[in-house]
Amino acid sequence: LEKAGCIIMNRLSESQLNELREFRRYLHRHPELSEEEVETAKQIKSQLEPLNPQHLLTDLGGHGLAAIFEGRAEGPTLLFRCELDALPIQEVNDFEHRSTQDGVAHKCGHDGHMSILLGLAHLIAEAPPRHGKVILLFQPAEENGVGAESMLQDTRVTGLQPDAVFALHNLPGFPLGLVLCREGSFTASVESLSIYYEGKTSHAGEPEKGTNPALAIAQSLEGIMALQQSIDQPDFFQVTPIQISMGEEAYGISAGHGVLRITIRSWEPEVLNRGRDQIEKSVNSIAAEHGLDLRVERSHAFSANQNAAKAVELIQAASADLGLDYMTRDEPFRWGEDFGLFTARYPGAMFGLGAGETRPALHNPDYDFPDELIQTGAELFHEIMKKALDTPW
Ligand SMILES: [Zn+2]
Ligand SMILES: [Zn+2]
Repeated sequence: LEKAGCIIMNRLSESQLNELREFRRYLHRHPELSEEEVETAKQIKSQLEPLNPQHLLTDLGGHGLAAIFEGRAEGPTLLFRCELDALPIQEVNDFEHRSTQDGVAHKCGHDGHMSILLGLAHLIAEAPPRHGKVILLFQPAEENGVGAESMLQDTRVTGLQPDAVFALHNLPGFPLGLVLCREGSFTASVESLSIYYEGKTSHAGEPEKGTNPALAIAQSLEGIMALQQSIDQPDFFQVTPIQISMGEEAYGISAGHGVLRITIRSWEPEVLNRGRDQIEKSVNSIAAEHGLDLRVERSHAFSANQNAAKAVELIQAASADLGLDYMTRDEPFRWGEDFGLFTARYPGAMFGLGAGETRPALHNPDYDFPDELIQTGAELFHEIMKKALDTPW
């Protein structure tokens, strides 16, 4: 197919699309949790091998893989990323490709994202780049926030020194195939905090002889919630209580320990750091007042995706060339995505792809990835790739 008389438009064939759809459904049937993506990685490897990338790296920072396609001439090195992991959620759908694993399912559409990247691999294999290098990175453990970091700690990945990095995420609640992007922050900086209170148990009839954490937890929560800044503020800061627990169900014992778990989020990493510092200061002084030992554990950190202007322009131009609707987001999304660690290090962008307005939300038990997006995503990535290979970074 030819467009505007000069640009060759590569399209996935009907049989390729059928194959990719079947593969997506295979992955959906066989989901694996973060850091356990052994079989998924094997399947991806066997799909990539026949496409003859110059290099196929495996066991990257866990179960990650990278297929590398090289042109003959010098040029930019591009990286496209997808995720391998599913979630600890019980599927409630009863369609034929429902999850076969109890309590585990692809509820974020990473099965679809893998198929999209595989579709891109097919397009590249048919017409390898003349110049530059394209890395297709299949990253494990996105959902628990450790995958991107493990990728970036593996010198086999960082040694590739990408000039630009791209990723997408499907987005239920938006029209199917709509491309959503924005310059600057695209997703939020997110972190989880577990605040442990250590006191002393005592007889329930003599609580004064122990140190019960109940009041300290209550005061901590009140203090923490007061630090919030609303979403229309540039220093937006949100706190979500996740879990509170203390003591045991033993009516003769005054509780001697407790934990408060929260997530915090903001548009900018600096605001997140500042908010976390304030929280730690506040809970430490409250614990001290109550004579409790306190420990704060940080986990599940997601750095806000920072989209580079040049990368966003390419995504917009590629969408226009493919006749896809494009929308600039007024504000970032409030979820975290660990691709932010990539965009903190390399120029690039993450964008959204509408998954249908009535589709169940991400992480809902009845969610399923729309197969139509395999073609849209793969061809859009390919168009972005062609433009980015001709761009000085
Ligand atoms: Zn997710
Ligand atoms: Zn996801």
